[in-house]
Amino acid sequence: MTSPTHPSTETVLISGASIAGPTLAYWLHRYGFEVTIVEKARTPRGGGYPIDVRGTAIEVVRRMGVLPRLQAANLHIERFTFVDADGVTVASLPPHEVTGSVVSQDLEMGRGDLTAALYAAVRDDVEFLFDDSIDTFEERDDGVDVEFRSGSRRRFDLVIGADGMHSRTRRLQFGAEEQFHRYLGYAFGVFTMPNTLGLSHELTLWNTPGRAAALYATGSSEDVLYAFVNFHRSEPPRGLHGDRDAQRALISEIYAQAGWEIPAILRAMQDAEDLFFDTAGQIRMPSWSKGRVALVGDAAYAPSFLTGQGSSLAIVGAYMLAASLGGNQDHAAAFRAYERDTRDFVTRNQALVDTGGAPLFPITASALEQRNTALRGQVAMPPSAGEPAHSALTLPVEIS
Ligand SMILES: Cc1cc2nc3c(=O)[nH]c(=O)nc-3n(C[C@H](O)[C@H](O)[C@H](O)COP(=O)(O)OP(=O)(O)OC[C@H]3O[C@@H](n4cnc5c(N)ncnc54)[C@H](O)[C@@H]3O)c2cc1C
Repeated sequence: MTSPTHPSTETVLISGASIAGPTLAYWLHRYGFEVTIVEKARTPRGGGYPIDVRGTAIEVVRRMGVLPRLQAANLHIERFTFVDADGVTVASLPPHEVTGSVVSQDLEMGRGDLTAALYAAVRDDVEFLFDDSIDTFEERDDGVDVEFRSGSRRRFDLVIGADGMHSRTRRLQFGAEEQFHRYLGYAFGVFTMPNTLGLSHELTLWNTPGRAAALYATGSSEDVLYAFVNFHRSEPPRGLHGDRDAQRALISEIYAQAGWEIPAILRAMQDAEDLFFDTAGQIRMPSWSKGRVALVGDAAYAPSFLTGQGSSLAIVGAYMLAASLGGNQDHAAAFRAYERDTRDFVTRNQALVDTGGAPLFPITASALEQRNTALRGQVAMPPSAGEPAHSALTLPVEIS
């Protein structure tokens, strides 16, 4: 256990109350900072697709005291089934053999369950401003003057962007997203649909070269399936942002005449009010801080859903940033330490996928056949020891 060395009156504004934001707030509070979180949603965002907490991130949530609550929310997915173009089973495996997770240690839960647990751990100790966001800020020698959308103005010693892949804080301080976004060769849509197939605690993935659709029955609600439709494009599809009709039209065109349950999935997509469409990409920045502003989680180093490591990087990165700020008098030195001690972990996890090369989403017939042959041989494999990248960081000792 260590004690903080920084002056205890520093004020920090965090933008974003999802995963990185509340984790950072929890630890900054423990180090004696005065923390405010601004979140554009009206409440902590509930619902959402299943996400993983693995490896080093498990130790962070254990230290926060939220591990039992997260273990209770664990989804216990029993089967990961791969099917071919006609819906014929290629292989059906325990999920950890596919994801590199460690059975009885790593967790998978609804995104909203994780956010709710992290929020509950910190809500009494820090100030939350919901339904608001940073409009602009101006950095001074001795602080950052922030103007909020609501019109109020306040000064903070530091501002941290935990506002996700399309971070506004990043744009305001570092410039346009395009400089940092690395397109990975896929676009996807995700939405919920009625579970008319009676699936339970299982994921089924359908592949043809360049197309991958999945149905995910988490068991948290027997009536709902998470449908996922992914496709390869060498260039990111343009002009679809915010236009759900255009997104639906493109997906329907790409999946026209496909077999298995695809026609039912496409019909459900037409009615789905929660369709979320984006490209698969990573955020790669030469530096995660500038002046009195720093970034954490997806805002700084989104690894993409293809790695399944976004939440874990957000949790571990938040812990490392708080420990660096808590252990340094000077914020510039703290930001340097955060980066020095965390970058290798981030790089290793981002390297789990390459453009067009995600094993779950082969883009050529030969890559798909090779993947399927490997899967057939994997059926009798022993439990996985875990993907080394998931645990490739030793955390600094916990603050007393
Ligand atoms: C379809 C899909 C599937 C995924 N699957 C997995 C998976 O299996 N495993 C995994 O680990 N990860 C997965 N991820 C990634 C994971 O969701 C993210 O990596 C993780 O949520 C990052 O957390 P974060 O706190 O950094 O950012 P986010 O969760 O993106 O949160 C950002 C927060 O900031 C708020 N915000 C945004 N802009 C502003 C603003 N201007 N002002 C105030 N607030 C703002 C948002 O409302 C949100 O609450 C998936 C992502 C997607 C899209």
